[in-house]
Amino acid sequence: MSDKSLPSDVDSRLKVLKIAYRQRLVRELDQIDDFLQALRQDPANSQSLRALHEALHKLAGSAGTFGFEQLGRQASLLEEQVSNALAKAEGVAELPGLTDWVAQLRASLQADESRKTGLGVEVLEQEANDDQLSIWLLERDTMLADYIGQQLRSFGFTVLHLRDAQELEQASSCSPDLLLVDHHASESPELKTQPEAFWRDRLKSFNCPIIFTGAEEGFFARLHAVRSGGRGYFTKPLDVPQLAAHVARILKSGESAPERILIVEDDSDMAQFCQVVLQQAGMQVEILDQPQNLLQTASDFDPELILMDLRMPVATGAEMAAILTQIERWAHLPIIYLSAETSAEFRGHALSSGGDAFLEKPVDPKLLVSLCRSRIGRLRELEQAMTRDGLTGLIKHASIKEALQTEWEYVRRHPRPFSVVMLDIDHFKSVNDTHGHAVGDLVIAAVGTLLRQHFRNTDKLGRYGGEEFALVLPDCTASIATGLVDGLRQSFSAIRFMGGGESFSCTLSAGVVDNQSFPRHSAEALIEQADKALYKAKHSGRNRVCLASASDDPKAGPTNKEAR
Ligand code: GH3
Ligand code: MG
Ligand code: MG
Repeated sequence: MSDKSLPSDVDSRLKVLKIAYRQRLVRELDQIDDFLQALRQDPANSQSLRALHEALHKLAGSAGTFGFEQLGRQASLLEEQVSNALAKAEGVAELPGLTDWVAQLRASLQADESRKTGLGVEVLEQEANDDQLSIWLLERDTMLADYIGQQLRSFGFTVLHLRDAQELEQASSCSPDLLLVDHHASESPELKTQPEAFWRDRLKSFNCPIIFTGAEEGFFARLHAVRSGGRGYFTKPLDVPQLAAHVARILKSGESAPERILIVEDDSDMAQFCQVVLQQAGMQVEILDQPQNLLQTASDFDPELILMDLRMPVATGAEMAAILTQIERWAHLPIIYLSAETSAEFRGHALSSGGDAFLEKPVDPKLLVSLCRSRIGRLRELEQAMTRDGLTGLIKHASIKEALQTEWEYVRRHPRPFSVVMLDIDHFKSVNDTHGHAVGDLVIAAVGTLLRQHFRNTDKLGRYGGEEFALVLPDCTASIATGLVDGLRQSFSAIRFMGGGESFSCTLSAGVVDNQSFPRHSAEALIEQADKALYKAKHSGRNRVCLASASDDPKAGPTNKEAR
């Protein structure tokens, strides 16, 4: 969970998980009671005996994790008895005290609760890893939820399943990073009569993006989602890789660097007012009150947007805008004029000199923040579209090579380890051949999403070619990189893709090298070594990660491209 969603501490998050688990316990104990009743009526019913065994096994395995230790132990004892009975095909006739079993389990539960046990923090802390983004999944269909949950976990999210709006309400003292809500996840009659108001009301306390899901398609389903407060709508059956990409994009955009804004204004009260408002919204702000310092300040601060007063001594705002548009580096920098001037002629002249828009004085703080944020956001998107690969959102071939060169040069001055990874989807041609190019594209895009989930913001992740990827990982030895990439490999193989009505999975192979194992090599030669290790992974059976070894002679044998 992120800081903004309140409970950044593990304890609060565990509490939420425990609330959900406690509710599950009620259902599970009822279910065990049902099985026992069925067995009392028909002691030879082996189906009920097996179901009882399964339920006890599940309970024994999970209760301790959530702090219900005595319950877990008790379930485990009973499970053993059922297990013996099943092995000897004795039926339940041999099981002592059957009628008391549920009472025993409930007593254990009560004992656990009265002891106020701590939670199984060690186990859960791993699950609620701080780096992982948390999704709460509101879904009535438990099997579907298990499936979506498992798929989203493969993409590196933590997922908590809540069954309906009521469970959500009980957990609402905390908040996840994102809510994924099935539009029909409530029995409440209000949902049928006023669905939009129902969800708006239930979700208003959650300060996180909400995505709705539903079986309905088309404009009105989407409108419905928007009116219910949704940031997105996905049709069932869900394409989880696509959903994961969408979620990652929404959540990662909140993590981007603060916007940099330069205020050019001679009225220092006015300038400071704008500065405080923007800084409160998390932006970086500089004030320029001497117009003659414009170029120097712009060059030092590298703003993404200028708020420009129009009437100033020395030079007017329109003249300053004109200067900026004549310099290539600043020609596309957005300029917003701050002005009380209403004359259309005056405004028209200022805009034709190079500004983009007007913001009225007195300045409305909310409008100021949203104008700056949306302008810069759009500009950043445009920049991404130009430098990044459209399908995966990763950097393009030339940029990843450039990033490698930059890292290599940096490390010559400030020695530190870094790794280079080449990664390639296995038998990808057959994915295209079997399911079509469009499905193949989704598989490639999923690797992009996974990479961004598994690696740090400072790592350089590139799409090197068709279904081939290159990574540059600063401050990372080859052995650490191998572990990370192997985690990625495992997650990738767990993802189920949909193609022509059937589901399938893919694997990938990777080669890893670090600068320390090949100290005298150029940046280019490191790529070759990583590629060579990839070739080794392919030829030793695929679906694996291989480390480049210094004993391999980079000049011997055919290049990998020829061999593949
Ligand atoms: P290997 O396990 O040895 O890597 O076998 P492979 O089939 O994955 O490798 P190969 O290099 O023979 O085939 C890669 C295929 O990837 C060939 C090409 O048509 C396809 N491809 C390249 N770029 C794209 C793309 O952007 N989208 C899709 N769908 N396919 C692509
Ligand atoms: Mg391949
Ligand atoms: Mg390939």
